[in-house]
Amino acid sequence: MMAEAQEDKKANRKADAKPVSKKKDIYDVAQAQLDKAAKALGLDSEIHTILLQPKNELIINFPVRMDDNSYRLFKGYRVQHNNIMGPYKGGIRFHPEVHLNECKALASWMTWKCALMEIPFGGAKGGIKFDPSKHSRTEIERITRRFTHALGQNIGPNYDIPAPDMGTDSQIMVWMMDTFMNAGSQKDKNALRGVVTGKSITSGGSQGRDKATGQGLVHCIVEWARETNFSLDGSTFSVQGFGKVGSHAARILSRLGSTLVAVHDHTGAIASAEGLNPRRLAEYVQKNGGVKGYPGGHPIEKEQFFATECDIVIPAALENQITAETAPLLKCKLVVEGANGPTDLDGDEILASKGIDLLPDILANAGGVTVSYFEWLQNQRAEMWTLEEVDARLHTMMRRAYATVRHISQEKNVDNRTAAYMHALDRIQTVYRERGIFP
Ligand code: GLU
Repeated sequence: MMAEAQEDKKANRKADAKPVSKKKDIYDVAQAQLDKAAKALGLDSEIHTILLQPKNELIINFPVRMDDNSYRLFKGYRVQHNNIMGPYKGGIRFHPEVHLNECKALASWMTWKCALMEIPFGGAKGGIKFDPSKHSRTEIERITRRFTHALGQNIGPNYDIPAPDMGTDSQIMVWMMDTFMNAGSQKDKNALRGVVTGKSITSGGSQGRDKATGQGLVHCIVEWARETNFSLDGSTFSVQGFGKVGSHAARILSRLGSTLVAVHDHTGAIASAEGLNPRRLAEYVQKNGGVKGYPGGHPIEKEQFFATECDIVIPAALENQITAETAPLLKCKLVVEGANGPTDLDGDEILASKGIDLLPDILANAGGVTVSYFEWLQNQRAEMWTLEEVDARLHTMMRRAYATVRHISQEKNVDNRTAAYMHALDRIQTVYRERGIFP
């Protein structure tokens, strides 16, 4: 048997729920965040209990033919956390460490994110446990299409709407859309375009979706700078993860006069006191798969990355990065969460004790799902908005959400994460109370 197939066998024998490594269980972090905000808000205990678990957890094992004609078994997930505010919404992740509890945590964060942003969607998340860098584009296409087919009617433009996340892009969304459309009736095909968002513009995507998360992040940073009387011009920042979120945020922030001084990703870490050029670094990462070896900077250790003195730190990679080990190293004024769940509870406490401000994921990275909502609206109405229109609407929604979070934080004397949760939970609780529990 081939080595890969052996590996599959081992991976498929492992428990689905827990992370393979010894890292903290991210679902514990998500639940603890919810508990804290529920207490601060005085959330009804029945509603709290409902929200602690997702509505649906789907695990699909499916075989796919490889380029050499062998077959491999893949494990895919879709967790639908809550849909009281609207259709389930959230990304699909392709990553070797995808597991059930990660999807459960990420799905719940989508519920809070959409409720906070006042977008009429619920929360979901899914993924396939594999490393896309080890597969050809044709294999990735077959993996994507087979998984979409297996999801069947568990997704749909008015039911559950996937989008890109780590390891997935607009091409993968277009394959998902095409597969889903082809399974529908001939007549209704075009009404199904909105089954996924984050598509290429030519196949029904929205202007500005690509940079939306990074753009939203920078809107939050600008609001924070205004509030704290901080000048972004002449400031410095570091980024962890130089994918879609990190690289767009870096490019947009550098246009405001801030200098990128250090970057860390899964290949290594680099730094330059004179500044790294975000556009050139993004091109390098595209070609080489990571920041390691970038000629415009010098290599540093992971610990040095966290210890790099700068004004703003943007974690935009995986969860569980700012923890009891790394948070003490940080020497910055602000952490802006581009990733979902990059800071655990110890991390939160340590940052607060050091007087470092934090803009939480469900606010800071909500630009992505906000423009996904715009894309879905455009699909529903067969409209095409200009980039200026998208940008202006995103700006308004990010500013409103930022102001709401800061208002609650000051009024109730809670941290920004708890304030963001409280607004989301308050809206969800109101709807539960109005509708009641069936029957
Ligand atoms: N994956 C992104 C997130 O975590 C976007 C989700 C979406 O657009 O539905 O927010």
